[in-house]
Amino acid sequence: MDTQVFAALSAETLPGRLGGNTILKEKIGDDSARWEVKEVGDGNLNLVFIVTGEKGAAIVKQALPYVRLVGESWPLPLKRSYFEYHALIRQSARDPGMVPEIFFFDAAQAIIAMEYLTPHVILRRALIDGHALPKIGRDLGLFCARALFRGSDFSMVTRDKKADMALFADNVELCDITENLVFSDPYFDATLNRHTSPQLDPLVAELRRDRDLKVEAQRLKHLFSAKAETLCHGDLHTGSVMVTEEETRVIDPEFAFYGPISFDVGMLLANFWMNYFAQSGHESERDARAGMRTYLLDTVETIWETFRAEFANLWRSERKGILYQASLFEDQGDLLGAEQALNIVLDEIYREMLGFAGIEMHRRILGLAHNADFETIADPNHRAACEKKALKLGRHLAVNRHRIHSLKDVRATAERLE
Ligand code: ADP
Ligand code: MG
Ligand code: MG
Ligand code: MG
Repeated sequence: MDTQVFAALSAETLPGRLGGNTILKEKIGDDSARWEVKEVGDGNLNLVFIVTGEKGAAIVKQALPYVRLVGESWPLPLKRSYFEYHALIRQSARDPGMVPEIFFFDAAQAIIAMEYLTPHVILRRALIDGHALPKIGRDLGLFCARALFRGSDFSMVTRDKKADMALFADNVELCDITENLVFSDPYFDATLNRHTSPQLDPLVAELRRDRDLKVEAQRLKHLFSAKAETLCHGDLHTGSVMVTEEETRVIDPEFAFYGPISFDVGMLLANFWMNYFAQSGHESERDARAGMRTYLLDTVETIWETFRAEFANLWRSERKGILYQASLFEDQGDLLGAEQALNIVLDEIYREMLGFAGIEMHRRILGLAHNADFETIADPNHRAACEKKALKLGRHLAVNRHRIHSLKDVRATAERLE
Protein backbone atom coordinates (compact mmCIF):
# COMPACT_ATOMS: atom_id res chain seq x y z
CA MET A 1 0.00 0.00 0.00
CA ASP A 2 1.23 3.47 -0.85
CA THR A 3 1.41 5.27 2.46
CA GLN A 4 2.59 8.56 0.98
CA VAL A 5 -0.18 9.90 -1.22
CA PHE A 6 -3.70 9.97 0.15
CA ALA A 7 -6.27 8.05 -1.88
CA ALA A 8 -9.88 7.53 -0.89
CA LEU A 9 -10.86 3.89 -0.38
CA SER A 10 -13.78 2.30 -2.15
CA ALA A 11 -15.53 -1.01 -1.49
CA GLU A 12 -13.72 -2.33 -4.58
CA THR A 13 -10.19 -1.14 -3.73
CA LEU A 14 -10.24 -1.77 0.04
CA PRO A 15 -9.29 -5.50 0.05
CA GLY A 16 -6.41 -4.90 -2.37
CA ARG A 17 -5.11 -1.94 -0.39
CA LEU A 18 -5.52 -3.27 3.17
CA GLY A 19 -5.31 -7.04 2.49
CA GLY A 20 -1.65 -7.18 3.54
CA ASN A 21 -2.31 -5.72 6.98
CA THR A 22 -1.55 -8.42 9.56
CA ILE A 23 -3.96 -7.09 12.18
CA LEU A 24 -6.85 -6.98 9.71
CA LYS A 25 -6.02 -10.45 8.38
CA GLU A 26 -6.18 -11.75 11.93
CA LYS A 27 -9.49 -10.01 12.65
CA ILE A 28 -11.23 -10.55 9.30
CA GLY A 29 -9.57 -13.47 7.50
CA ASP A 30 -6.26 -14.21 5.74
CA ASP A 31 -7.52 -14.14 2.16
CA SER A 32 -8.58 -10.58 1.44
CA ALA A 33 -9.98 -11.65 -1.94
CA ARG A 34 -12.78 -13.18 0.15
CA TRP A 35 -13.47 -10.09 2.27
CA GLU A 36 -16.89 -8.56 1.84
CA VAL A 37 -16.98 -4.78 2.02
CA LYS A 38 -20.03 -2.60 2.62
CA GLU A 39 -19.98 1.20 2.79
CA VAL A 40 -22.22 2.29 5.67
CA GLY A 41 -21.20 5.85 6.42
CA ASP A 42 -24.28 7.88 7.23
CA GLY A 43 -22.34 10.72 8.79
CA ASN A 44 -21.67 14.15 7.42
CA LEU A 45 -17.93 13.85 7.03
CA ASN A 46 -16.30 10.48 6.46
CA LEU A 47 -16.25 7.10 4.71
CA VAL A 48 -17.11 4.09 6.89
CA PHE A 49 -16.84 0.48 5.67
CA ILE A 50 -17.81 -2.80 7.33
CA VAL A 51 -15.37 -5.48 6.24
CA THR A 52 -16.40 -9.09 6.88
CA GLY A 53 -14.56 -12.37 6.34
CA GLU A 54 -14.40 -15.95 7.62
CA LYS A 55 -12.79 -14.98 10.96
CA GLY A 56 -14.82 -11.90 11.83
CA ALA A 57 -15.29 -8.26 10.92
CA ALA A 58 -13.85 -4.78 11.33
CA ILE A 59 -14.82 -1.19 10.71
CA VAL A 60 -12.57 0.88 8.45
CA LYS A 61 -13.19 4.61 8.79
CA GLN A 62 -11.43 7.03 6.47
CA ALA A 63 -11.49 10.82 6.51
CA LEU A 64 -11.89 12.63 3.20
CA PRO A 65 -10.15 15.91 2.39
CA TYR A 66 -13.51 17.68 2.25
CA VAL A 67 -16.91 17.78 4.03
CA ARG A 68 -18.90 14.88 2.65
CA LEU A 69 -22.25 16.55 3.34
CA VAL A 70 -21.32 19.60 1.24
CA GLY A 71 -18.75 18.29 -1.28
CA GLU A 72 -15.27 19.13 -2.51
CA SER A 73 -16.02 22.84 -2.41
CA TRP A 74 -15.55 22.70 1.39
CA PRO A 75 -12.07 21.32 2.13
CA LEU A 76 -11.42 19.80 5.55
CA PRO A 77 -8.02 18.44 6.57
CA LEU A 78 -7.34 14.72 6.92
CA LYS A 79 -5.62 15.30 10.27
CA ARG A 80 -9.02 15.15 12.01
CA SER A 81 -8.54 11.39 11.83
CA TYR A 82 -5.39 11.78 13.96
CA PHE A 83 -7.37 13.66 16.62
CA GLU A 84 -10.15 11.07 16.52
CA TYR A 85 -7.58 8.31 17.04
CA HIS A 86 -5.92 10.12 19.95
CA ALA A 87 -9.26 10.92 21.57
CA LEU A 88 -10.37 7.26 21.30
CA ILE A 89 -7.14 6.12 22.98
CA ARG A 90 -7.67 8.52 25.87
CA GLN A 91 -11.38 7.76 26.28
CA SER A 92 -10.61 4.05 26.29
CA ALA A 93 -8.11 4.56 29.14
CA ARG A 94 -10.45 6.85 31.08
CA ASP A 95 -13.60 4.72 30.81
CA PRO A 96 -12.51 1.25 29.65
CA GLY A 97 -14.91 -0.58 27.37
CA MET A 98 -16.95 2.47 26.39
CA VAL A 99 -15.37 3.06 22.97
CA PRO A 100 -14.70 0.53 20.20
CA GLU A 101 -11.37 -1.30 20.35
CA ILE A 102 -8.85 0.28 17.97
CA PHE A 103 -7.05 -2.09 15.57
CA PHE A 104 -4.74 0.35 13.79
CA PHE A 105 -4.31 3.93 12.65
CA ASP A 106 -2.73 5.07 9.38
CA ALA A 107 -2.13 8.82 9.50
CA ALA A 108 -1.19 9.32 5.82
CA GLN A 109 -4.32 7.55 4.60
CA ALA A 110 -6.43 8.98 7.48
CA ILE A 111 -7.69 5.47 8.28
CA ILE A 112 -8.82 4.15 11.66
CA ALA A 113 -9.58 0.42 11.78
CA MET A 114 -11.68 -0.59 14.76
CA GLU A 115 -14.02 -3.10 16.31
CA TYR A 116 -17.28 -3.61 14.43
CA LEU A 117 -20.05 -2.97 16.93
CA THR A 118 -22.82 -5.46 16.28
CA PRO A 119 -25.76 -5.84 16.77
CA HIS A 120 -25.50 -2.25 18.07
CA VAL A 121 -27.61 0.46 16.48
CA ILE A 122 -27.25 4.23 16.53
CA LEU A 123 -29.00 5.56 19.66
CA ARG A 124 -30.74 8.37 17.77
CA ARG A 125 -32.35 5.80 15.46
CA ALA A 126 -33.46 3.66 18.40
CA LEU A 127 -35.05 6.65 20.16
CA ILE A 128 -36.86 7.77 17.00
CA ASP A 129 -38.23 4.23 16.68
CA GLY A 130 -39.52 4.42 20.24
CA HIS A 131 -37.08 2.00 21.89
CA ALA A 132 -36.35 2.74 25.53
CA LEU A 133 -32.83 1.50 26.27
CA PRO A 134 -32.57 0.72 29.97
CA LYS A 135 -28.84 1.28 30.55
CA ILE A 136 -27.91 4.39 28.62
CA GLY A 137 -28.63 6.93 31.34
CA ARG A 138 -26.19 5.36 33.73
CA ASP A 139 -23.59 4.41 31.09
CA LEU A 140 -23.51 7.87 29.51
CA GLY A 141 -23.46 9.66 32.86
CA LEU A 142 -20.48 7.54 33.95
CA PHE A 143 -18.72 8.02 30.61
CA CYS A 144 -19.06 11.81 30.77
CA ALA A 145 -17.85 12.00 34.36
CA ARG A 146 -14.88 9.66 33.84
CA ALA A 147 -13.70 10.96 30.47
CA LEU A 148 -14.16 14.61 31.41
CA PHE A 149 -12.84 14.46 34.99
CA ARG A 150 -9.83 12.30 34.15
CA GLY A 151 -8.90 14.58 31.24
CA SER A 152 -9.17 17.75 33.30
CA ASP A 153 -6.98 20.02 35.41
CA PHE A 154 -8.52 18.31 38.46
CA SER A 155 -6.80 15.08 37.46
CA MET A 156 -3.89 15.93 35.16
CA VAL A 157 -0.51 17.31 36.25
CA THR A 158 0.52 20.47 34.50
CA ARG A 159 3.19 18.98 32.18
CA ASP A 160 0.87 16.26 30.83
CA LYS A 161 -2.04 18.65 30.49
CA LYS A 162 -0.06 21.23 28.51
CA ALA A 163 1.52 18.61 26.24
CA ASP A 164 -1.88 17.16 25.46
CA MET A 165 -3.41 20.58 24.89
CA ALA A 166 -0.62 21.28 22.41
CA LEU A 167 -1.41 18.05 20.56
CA PHE A 168 -5.12 18.82 20.24
CA ALA A 169 -4.66 22.56 19.65
CA ASP A 170 -4.12 21.81 15.96
CA ASN A 171 -7.70 20.55 15.50
CA VAL A 172 -8.38 24.08 14.32
CA GLU A 173 -10.72 23.52 11.41
CA LEU A 174 -13.15 21.39 13.40
CA CYS A 175 -13.25 23.90 16.26
CA ASP A 176 -13.85 26.62 13.67
CA ILE A 177 -16.83 24.67 12.33
CA THR A 178 -18.37 24.43 15.80
CA GLU A 179 -17.63 28.06 16.63
CA ASN A 180 -19.49 29.23 13.53
CA LEU A 181 -22.14 26.58 12.94
CA VAL A 182 -23.20 26.19 16.56
CA PHE A 183 -22.72 29.57 18.20
CA SER A 184 -23.18 32.18 15.47
CA ASP A 185 -24.86 31.02 12.24
CA PRO A 186 -28.26 30.23 13.80
CA TYR A 187 -28.62 33.87 14.88
CA PHE A 188 -28.18 35.59 11.53
CA ASP A 189 -28.95 34.90 7.90
CA ALA A 190 -25.86 32.73 7.28
CA THR A 191 -25.48 31.12 3.85
CA LEU A 192 -25.55 27.51 5.04
CA ASN A 193 -28.62 27.87 7.28
CA ARG A 194 -31.95 26.26 6.58
CA HIS A 195 -35.15 25.83 8.55
CA THR A 196 -38.70 24.61 8.05
CA SER A 197 -40.13 27.54 6.13
CA PRO A 198 -42.43 29.41 6.10
CA GLN A 199 -43.77 27.81 9.30
CA LEU A 200 -40.82 28.84 11.48
CA ASP A 201 -40.08 32.21 9.80
CA PRO A 202 -41.68 34.43 12.49
CA LEU A 203 -39.95 32.63 15.39
CA VAL A 204 -36.61 32.62 13.54
CA ALA A 205 -36.89 36.40 13.03
CA GLU A 206 -37.74 36.83 16.73
CA LEU A 207 -34.72 34.77 17.84
CA ARG A 208 -32.38 36.75 15.58
CA ARG A 209 -33.65 39.99 17.15
CA ASP A 210 -33.30 38.57 20.65
CA ARG A 211 -30.45 40.57 22.19
CA ASP A 212 -30.29 38.59 25.45
CA LEU A 213 -30.11 35.32 23.52
CA LYS A 214 -27.35 36.51 21.19
CA VAL A 215 -25.30 37.80 24.11
CA GLU A 216 -25.68 34.43 25.90
CA ALA A 217 -24.75 32.53 22.73
CA GLN A 218 -21.54 34.56 22.49
CA ARG A 219 -20.76 34.08 26.21
CA LEU A 220 -21.08 30.34 25.60
CA LYS A 221 -18.93 30.60 22.47
CA HIS A 222 -16.32 32.34 24.62
CA LEU A 223 -16.38 29.41 27.05
CA PHE A 224 -16.05 27.03 24.11
CA SER A 225 -13.07 28.85 22.61
CA ALA A 226 -11.25 29.86 25.80
CA LYS A 227 -12.05 27.51 28.69
CA ALA A 228 -9.62 24.67 27.99
CA GLU A 229 -10.36 22.61 31.12
CA THR A 230 -10.63 19.08 29.73
CA LEU A 231 -10.46 16.94 26.60
CA CYS A 232 -14.00 17.02 25.21
CA HIS A 233 -15.46 14.52 22.74
CA GLY A 234 -16.69 17.55 20.80
CA ASP A 235 -19.61 15.89 18.94
CA LEU A 236 -21.42 13.95 21.65
CA HIS A 237 -24.94 13.71 20.27
CA THR A 238 -27.18 10.62 20.12
CA GLY A 239 -25.80 9.87 16.61
CA SER A 240 -22.38 9.29 18.22
CA VAL A 241 -23.66 6.58 20.57
CA MET A 242 -24.26 2.94 19.58
CA VAL A 243 -26.39 0.69 21.75
CA THR A 244 -27.91 -2.68 22.47
CA GLU A 245 -30.15 -3.43 25.44
CA GLU A 246 -27.02 -4.35 27.42
CA GLU A 247 -24.24 -2.19 25.96
CA THR A 248 -23.49 1.45 25.29
CA ARG A 249 -20.56 2.61 23.14
CA VAL A 250 -19.40 6.09 22.16
CA ILE A 251 -17.93 6.68 18.67
CA ASP A 252 -16.75 9.51 16.41
CA PRO A 253 -14.68 11.95 18.54
CA GLU A 254 -13.03 13.69 15.56
CA PHE A 255 -14.09 17.10 16.96
CA ALA A 256 -12.05 16.45 20.13
CA PHE A 257 -10.61 19.62 21.67
CA TYR A 258 -9.73 21.10 25.05
CA GLY A 259 -12.84 22.87 26.24
CA PRO A 260 -15.39 23.15 29.05
CA ILE A 261 -16.46 19.99 30.93
CA SER A 262 -20.05 21.16 30.44
CA PHE A 263 -19.92 21.13 26.63
CA ASP A 264 -20.29 17.38 25.97
CA VAL A 265 -22.93 16.98 28.67
CA GLY A 266 -24.98 19.90 27.33
CA MET A 267 -24.87 18.65 23.73
CA LEU A 268 -25.91 15.18 24.84
CA LEU A 269 -28.87 16.30 26.96
CA ALA A 270 -30.05 18.66 24.17
CA ASN A 271 -30.36 15.69 21.85
CA PHE A 272 -32.62 13.89 24.35
CA TRP A 273 -34.81 16.97 24.74
CA MET A 274 -35.07 17.30 20.94
CA ASN A 275 -36.02 13.65 20.64
CA TYR A 276 -38.66 14.26 23.33
CA PHE A 277 -40.27 17.04 21.26
CA ALA A 278 -39.97 14.94 18.07
CA GLN A 279 -41.87 11.95 19.52
CA SER A 280 -45.31 13.23 18.50
CA GLY A 281 -44.11 13.17 14.89
CA HIS A 282 -43.35 9.48 15.15
CA GLU A 283 -46.26 8.07 17.17
CA SER A 284 -48.92 5.98 15.48
CA GLU A 285 -51.72 7.71 17.39
CA ARG A 286 -51.90 10.50 19.88
CA ASP A 287 -50.10 9.66 23.14
CA ALA A 288 -48.95 6.26 21.89
CA ARG A 289 -45.46 7.45 22.86
CA ALA A 290 -46.40 8.82 26.30
CA GLY A 291 -44.24 6.19 28.02
CA MET A 292 -41.35 7.03 25.72
CA ARG A 293 -41.62 10.71 26.58
CA THR A 294 -41.44 9.92 30.29
CA TYR A 295 -38.47 7.64 29.66
CA LEU A 296 -36.60 10.40 27.78
CA LEU A 297 -37.03 12.95 30.58
CA ASP A 298 -36.11 10.30 33.16
CA THR A 299 -32.98 9.49 31.15
CA VAL A 300 -31.91 13.14 31.09
CA GLU A 301 -32.12 13.17 34.88
CA THR A 302 -30.31 9.83 35.20
CA ILE A 303 -27.45 11.03 32.98
CA TRP A 304 -27.07 14.21 35.01
CA GLU A 305 -27.43 12.58 38.45
CA THR A 306 -25.00 9.81 37.50
CA PHE A 307 -22.56 12.37 36.11
CA ARG A 308 -22.71 14.40 39.33
CA ALA A 309 -22.32 11.39 41.61
CA GLU A 310 -19.39 9.92 39.67
CA PHE A 311 -17.72 13.31 39.30
CA ALA A 312 -17.99 13.68 43.09
CA ASN A 313 -16.50 10.18 43.61
CA LEU A 314 -13.56 11.05 41.39
CA TRP A 315 -13.16 14.43 43.09
CA ARG A 316 -12.80 12.65 46.43
CA SER A 317 -10.58 9.80 45.22
CA GLU A 318 -8.60 11.01 42.17
CA ARG A 319 -8.05 14.75 42.62
CA LYS A 320 -4.32 14.65 41.84
CA GLY A 321 -4.05 17.47 39.32
CA ILE A 322 -3.29 21.15 39.14
CA LEU A 323 -6.28 22.44 41.09
CA TYR A 324 -7.71 22.25 44.64
CA GLN A 325 -4.82 20.11 45.93
CA ALA A 326 -5.47 17.90 48.94
CA SER A 327 -2.63 19.74 50.72
CA LEU A 328 -4.97 22.73 51.01
CA PHE A 329 -7.95 20.76 52.30
CA GLU A 330 -8.04 17.07 53.26
CA ASP A 331 -4.40 16.96 54.41
CA GLN A 332 -5.25 19.73 56.89
CA GLY A 333 -8.32 17.86 58.03
CA ASP A 334 -10.61 20.24 56.13
CA LEU A 335 -12.97 17.84 54.38
CA LEU A 336 -15.63 20.51 54.23
CA GLY A 337 -13.43 22.84 52.17
CA ALA A 338 -13.01 20.22 49.46
CA GLU A 339 -16.78 19.59 49.45
CA GLN A 340 -17.52 23.30 49.23
CA ALA A 341 -15.21 23.60 46.23
CA LEU A 342 -16.81 20.54 44.61
CA ASN A 343 -20.26 22.10 44.91
CA ILE A 344 -19.06 25.32 43.32
CA VAL A 345 -17.42 23.44 40.44
CA LEU A 346 -20.52 21.28 39.84
CA ASP A 347 -22.83 24.28 39.96
CA GLU A 348 -20.75 26.04 37.31
CA ILE A 349 -20.79 22.92 35.10
CA TYR A 350 -24.58 22.75 35.54
CA ARG A 351 -25.19 26.39 34.48
CA GLU A 352 -22.90 26.09 31.47
CA MET A 353 -24.39 22.73 30.51
CA LEU A 354 -27.89 24.26 30.34
CA GLY A 355 -26.58 27.01 28.08
CA PHE A 356 -24.80 24.66 25.69
CA ALA A 357 -27.90 22.48 25.52
CA GLY A 358 -30.05 25.46 24.58
CA ILE A 359 -27.73 26.59 21.78
CA GLU A 360 -27.38 23.02 20.45
CA MET A 361 -31.17 22.81 20.08
CA HIS A 362 -31.19 26.01 18.07
CA ARG A 363 -28.42 25.09 15.69
CA ARG A 364 -29.95 21.68 14.89
CA ILE A 365 -33.15 23.38 13.74
CA LEU A 366 -31.80 26.61 12.24
CA GLY A 367 -28.26 25.82 11.08
CA LEU A 368 -26.62 23.51 8.54
CA ALA A 369 -26.59 20.15 10.33
CA HIS A 370 -30.10 19.05 11.20
CA ASN A 371 -31.00 15.85 13.01
CA ALA A 372 -33.10 12.92 11.91
CA ASP A 373 -35.42 13.23 14.94
CA PHE A 374 -37.12 16.22 13.29
CA GLU A 375 -36.03 15.69 9.66
CA THR A 376 -37.88 12.39 9.36
CA ILE A 377 -41.21 14.01 10.28
CA ALA A 378 -42.57 14.28 6.73
CA ASP A 379 -45.43 16.76 7.33
CA PRO A 380 -43.76 20.19 7.54
CA ASN A 381 -46.55 21.63 9.70
CA HIS A 382 -46.19 18.87 12.24
CA ARG A 383 -42.38 19.08 12.07
CA ALA A 384 -42.44 22.84 12.62
CA ALA A 385 -44.76 22.45 15.61
CA CYS A 386 -42.25 20.06 17.22
CA GLU A 387 -39.27 22.23 16.32
CA LYS A 388 -40.95 25.31 17.78
CA LYS A 389 -41.14 23.71 21.21
CA ALA A 390 -37.45 22.81 21.10
CA LEU A 391 -36.53 26.34 20.00
CA LYS A 392 -38.49 27.79 22.91
CA LEU A 393 -36.93 25.47 25.45
CA GLY A 394 -33.52 26.24 23.95
CA ARG A 395 -34.04 29.97 24.37
CA HIS A 396 -35.22 29.47 27.95
CA LEU A 397 -32.19 27.35 28.86
CA ALA A 398 -29.65 29.67 27.24
CA VAL A 399 -31.03 32.90 28.68
CA ASN A 400 -32.38 31.82 32.07
CA ARG A 401 -29.76 29.22 32.99
CA HIS A 402 -28.68 31.12 36.09
CA ARG A 403 -32.25 31.02 37.43
CA ILE A 404 -33.14 27.39 36.63
CA HIS A 405 -32.46 25.62 39.87
CA SER A 406 -32.73 21.98 38.86
CA LEU A 407 -33.53 19.62 36.02
CA LYS A 408 -36.93 19.11 37.64
CA ASP A 409 -37.68 22.70 36.60
CA VAL A 410 -36.53 21.94 33.04
CA ARG A 411 -38.74 18.87 33.06
CA ALA A 412 -41.74 20.93 34.07
CA THR A 413 -41.03 23.48 31.33
CA ALA A 414 -40.59 20.76 28.69
CA GLU A 415 -43.87 19.10 29.73
CA ARG A 416 -45.68 22.42 29.65
CA LEU A 417 -44.41 23.14 26.12
CA GLU A 418 -45.31 19.64 24.94
P1 ADP B 1 -18.91 10.47 10.70
O1 ADP B 1 -17.70 11.05 11.37
O2 ADP B 1 -18.85 10.60 9.24
O3 ADP B 1 -20.18 10.96 11.31
P2 ADP B 1 -19.23 8.01 12.26
O4 ADP B 1 -18.01 7.62 13.01
O5 ADP B 1 -20.32 8.67 13.02
O6 ADP B 1 -18.82 8.88 10.97
O7 ADP B 1 -19.78 6.70 11.54
C1 ADP B 1 -20.84 6.77 10.61
C2 ADP B 1 -21.74 5.54 10.78
O8 ADP B 1 -20.99 4.35 10.60
C3 ADP B 1 -22.32 5.43 12.18
O9 ADP B 1 -23.51 6.18 12.29
C4 ADP B 1 -22.56 3.95 12.31
O10 ADP B 1 -23.76 3.59 11.67
C5 ADP B 1 -21.41 3.35 11.53
N1 ADP B 1 -20.27 3.02 12.41
C6 ADP B 1 -19.22 3.81 12.72
N2 ADP B 1 -18.37 3.21 13.57
C7 ADP B 1 -18.89 1.97 13.81
C8 ADP B 1 -18.47 0.84 14.58
N3 ADP B 1 -17.33 0.85 15.29
N4 ADP B 1 -19.25 -0.27 14.57
C9 ADP B 1 -20.40 -0.30 13.84
N5 ADP B 1 -20.83 0.73 13.09
C10 ADP B 1 -20.11 1.86 13.06
MG1 MG C 1 -20.83 10.69 13.20
MG1 MG D 1 -23.35 9.34 12.06
MG1 MG E 1 -17.84 12.54 12.79
